[in-house]
Amino acid sequence: MQKKKAILVTGGGGFIGSHLCERLLADGNDVVCVDNFYTGSKNNIRHLLDSPNFELIRHDVTFPLYIEVDAIFNLACPASPVHYQNNPIHTTKTCVTGAINMLGIAKRLNIPILQASTSEVYGNPLEHPQTEEYWGNVNCIGIRSCYDEGKRCAETLFFDYQRQLDVAIKVVRIFNTYGPRMLPYDGRVVSNFIVQALQGKDITIYGDGSQTRSFCYVADLVEALIAMMDTPKDIIGPVNLGNPGEFTMLELAEMIIELTKSKSKMVFVDLPQDDPTQRKPDISKAKEILKWKPEVQLREGLSKTIKYFDSII
Ligand code: NAD
Ligand code: UDP
Repeated sequence: MQKKKAILVTGGGGFIGSHLCERLLADGNDVVCVDNFYTGSKNNIRHLLDSPNFELIRHDVTFPLYIEVDAIFNLACPASPVHYQNNPIHTTKTCVTGAINMLGIAKRLNIPILQASTSEVYGNPLEHPQTEEYWGNVNCIGIRSCYDEGKRCAETLFFDYQRQLDVAIKVVRIFNTYGPRMLPYDGRVVSNFIVQALQGKDITIYGDGSQTRSFCYVADLVEALIAMMDTPKDIIGPVNLGNPGEFTMLELAEMIIELTKSKSKMVFVDLPQDDPTQRKPDISKAKEILKWKPEVQLREGLSKTIKYFDSII
């Protein structure tokens, strides 16, 4: 950020949120982390608790919050399919009511607010790679819908608060992001494969493993989030953020087996319902608007992530 500010990070105790809090503090800002610790952990931010510039509020964003800050990063929401499907009604509430509550603060204080949206708004995309102009292909009654439609509705709210009330919104659509502080057992593919490989257990490939994802290292993503918040008021997004390198789940498993020197074998299990078959961001907008591109390639990011998991499991 350009100058010292008081910044609210909802979901600041989570994987991405904790890296963002760290980075904002390092830049000399005051940071207020709001989290209900549904999927986040105090361990992610324990090292920040002693900082006089860091404040932690245990709070669920589906309830109103009264606070004075200069900017809001709205990240509160479980991101792993296993977790967001565990209490799907609350996932939708977090996306929608949480967005309304945070937008209310932004409106009252006339401050910018960034929404951590997702590539899931494209659903199982029929256009490839995905540009921000693509409207998506989303099932509204499936097991992923609480998250996909919750995030889509949150985007709608953000754009209506902008059009109707002139709130300074910033919407970014984050593609699969990975790195240290992911939960080892949260069911996401990178954490699953690394933990399985390190423990010599079978690597669980869902379906035939031909589905693709594009993986962005968390440090790259945090740079983009901050760059987006620093844009002028007329830059509102949506902007895709991710690493366009595209890999099948088989390729990912092979790379992780090689990097961990694991003897694990791949096993094939049922593909979950509505699992997108392909995903790859077109990041032309991010490059142009934010002067940003991801720097950490998958092999390097995986090595750092493997080191982290090796130290905690
Ligand atoms: P995460 O689950 O590690 O972090 C989410 C944080 O939000 C956790 O600390 C959790 O406790 C908190 N939270 C959840 N519900 C809450 C509520 N009702 N009130 C207060 N706090 C609540 O996930 P993450 O990977 O760090 O994702 C952060 C954000 O980025 C999410 O909004 C997610 O949808 C978005 N995103 C992440 C990815 C990714 O690949 N990691 C991709 C697209 C979008
Ligand atoms: N996946 C897999 N094995 C696992 C976990 C996930 O093959 O142990 C697959 C999953 O089916 C999906 C991809 O990896 O195609 C990414 O899954 P993740 O849950 O990480 O994220 P999302 O589906 O939300 O992109």
